[in-house]
Parts: sequence; structure tokens; C-alpha cells
Amino acid sequence: MRDEYSIFDAHCHIGKALHSGRVQTADAMLALMDRYGIDRALAIPFPMVGCFRQAHDEIGTAVREHPNRFVGAACLNPFIGEAEFRQEVRRCREMYGFRALKIQPQFQPVDASLAESQFIFEAALENGMAMVCHTGNGIPYALPSAFMPAARKYPELKIVLAHCGGGGLFLQDAIVAALFCPNIYLELSTLMPSHVLRVLSQVPSFRLMAGSDLPENTGVEIGKILDLDVAEETQRDILWTTACTVFGEG
Ligand SMILES: [Zn+2]
Repeated sequence: MRDEYSIFDAHCHIGKALHSGRVQTADAMLALMDRYGIDRALAIPFPMVGCFRQAHDEIGTAVREHPNRFVGAACLNPFIGEAEFRQEVRRCREMYGFRALKIQPQFQPVDASLAESQFIFEAALENGMAMVCHTGNGIPYALPSAFMPAARKYPELKIVLAHCGGGGLFLQDAIVAALFCPNIYLELSTLMPSHVLRVLSQVPSFRLMAGSDLPENTGVEIGKILDLDVAEETQRDILWTTACTVFGEG
């Protein structure tokens, strides 16, 4: 809680990143959450890890130990093969109750429009998970509109576009994706406050959520929503309610 607002960070990472050398433990994340009044966070593995099972086990352990603080997400290289991919996503649900599956085209070059990629979305759907799709860096595969065909094909699947196109450059592409696909949600990290207001002028707040991504960004990402001159209900949707709806109350 912060300023009487419940806060759900819909995008953070726990584990050890091969590509950046970054290490984030569950305890460090909890300390960060306490510092900024974050009640709950979606914990996602980094996109490049030494062992995806180990990364999932680390997050799964955090979810078991702190079921009210963490919601688990799976993230693994889809090119390990469909059978192994589906098996691991199912394991994450059965063992730890994970609620989301992330793809990160910047490091996992998935063309979401190909028939060969559809099993990724089906794996989320068959495990009752939401998809979190990184957007921004990694274009063209990380264009927000790249995920529209899957959103149309699987109307029951909730698809969260992480970073809302990334930094403002593909903001309108993300807005159009949300306007045309009612099952697309926008996670607002990397946007400036002016960008968030532009999103809000076109997409209702019950389709929007806040995320930090990296610990240095946490204060700014949460603060920028709290500082917006908008209705309190709009802020509550972005900071809490939308993420609870998409990832489950836990
Ligand atoms: Zn991320």
C-alpha cells in the first residue's frame, strides 16, 4: 500500500540474467516492494538464463513462501521444441500455480504470426495463464501489432503487451492493438507520463497496468501513475485492479 493505494507490479524479474549479468533475488525484490509500497508482483525469469527449470523453481519457491506477494510467470526459449516447451509450462502451473507465460522476442526471435509459433499461445491457454509479450526492442517481432493475429485467433487468451510498444516510439501501434483486440492489455513501463495520458485518452483504464521491469525503475514507474492528474479510480485500475483481473487474485 502506498498513499492508500494497493499496488501490483505487473512486470518484474527474479533470477540471474546471462545477457546482463544482473542478479535479483526474491528477498531483494521483497525489500524493494516494501520500500515502494508494492503489495504484489508478477515475477518473471530473465529471458536469457542458464537453466530455465532452475529459474522457474527459484520463482516457484518465492511464490510458495510468499503467496500473497508474488505471482509466478514462466519464460523459456520456445526453440527447445514444442513438446518440451508445453511440458515445462504445465509443470510451472501444476507445481507452482504460475499465472502467466512470457515471450521476449528481443532474445527469443519468435514470429508470432507463423503457424509454427501458435503452440506458445496454446500452452498459455491450456494452462489458464495470461500471455505477457515483450514489445519494443526486438522489432519487427516485438511490434505490438505482431500479437494481434494471436489475440484474434484466441479470444479467450488475455495478452499483455509489456512496455506498451516501448518508450513511446510504437505507442500508437500498441493503442491500435488494444482498440482492435478486447483481450489485449497494456503494461505501461518505459512510457513517459504524457504517453500514459495519451493511452488513457483511447484505452479504458481496466485494460492498463503498471510495471517496473528493473529495480532502478521501480520508484519512477509507480510514482508516475500516482502523480497523474486523473480520477482516483483510473489510478486504482492501473495500479491494482487490472493486474488482479488478468493474473488472478492469488
Ligand atoms: Zn522484462
